[in-house]
Amino acid sequence: GGNRGIGRAIAGTLARAGADVAIFARSPESVERTAAELSQGGVRSIGLVGDVGDPGDVERAWAEVAETFEGVDILVNNAGITRDNLLLRMKPAEWDEVLRVNLAGAFHWCRLAVRPMIRKRWGRVINMASVVGLTGNAGQTNYAASKAGLIGFSKSLAAEVASRGVTVNVVAPGFIETEMTAALDDRARAAYEERIPAGRLGSAQDVADLVLFLASPLSDYITGQVICVDGGLTR
Ligand code: NDP
Repeated sequence: GGNRGIGRAIAGTLARAGADVAIFARSPESVERTAAELSQGGVRSIGLVGDVGDPGDVERAWAEVAETFEGVDILVNNAGITRDNLLLRMKPAEWDEVLRVNLAGAFHWCRLAVRPMIRKRWGRVINMASVVGLTGNAGQTNYAASKAGLIGFSKSLAAEVASRGVTVNVVAPGFIETEMTAALDDRARAAYEERIPAGRLGSAQDVADLVLFLASPLSDYITGQVICVDGGLTR
């Protein structure tokens, strides 16, 4: 999920810090464009197209990453979707799709990328949840379940790999200005701003800055944590 929104800001931030970056998402044009932009900064960058919820797509992309970069040090599972509906109106397909992308997607990538990290005795997994995974939200039973699931998944994996120098942490953004939140009308936006102690929606860069910290050696002794980037909304 590195071709737009929060993921694009993360990819750019890691590239500016000197990381080679592979991004993976469904839209070929923006994947290619973003990968080209990233490599202008002097790092190596590749764009891979696929569906994170499809294990075959992830395996194919992983083979290309492994070949190009000889493994991976930092894995950011950022791809995510919403299919909001009240429970009584929610179709099984809306439930399945959100769980397939938001939760199973992280499993598919971790299953492949964590093994070489263990071998190297160093690695970082950063999973993108949401404050909704902690607090719940009406109209988002599927999304909240996927993000709460990602938190349980990450805490369990953190315990499995901590002794091998691999950390697994969760970033939980609040309301961040991206395409996902662009649909808010002015009234809804004002209502959110009033609820957020910092008095503003967050930016994708606010989230990327935390990811950079969690990806760096500065966070060596932090694992299995959920850190909110939400202007004080969740306390
Ligand atoms: P966007 O909708 O702007 O971006 C979503 C990203 O995920 C895109 O890069 C998209 O690329 C990718 N993606 C979606 N589905 C798939 C798929 N099946 N396979 C591969 N890639 C996929 O969302 P945001 O930037 O706002 O959100 C990023 C993450 O942050 C998500 O996990 C979201 O749940 C989380 N979040 C966002 C908040 C916000 O306020 N914006 C708040 C809390 C959490 P493509 O469409 O090309 O596949």
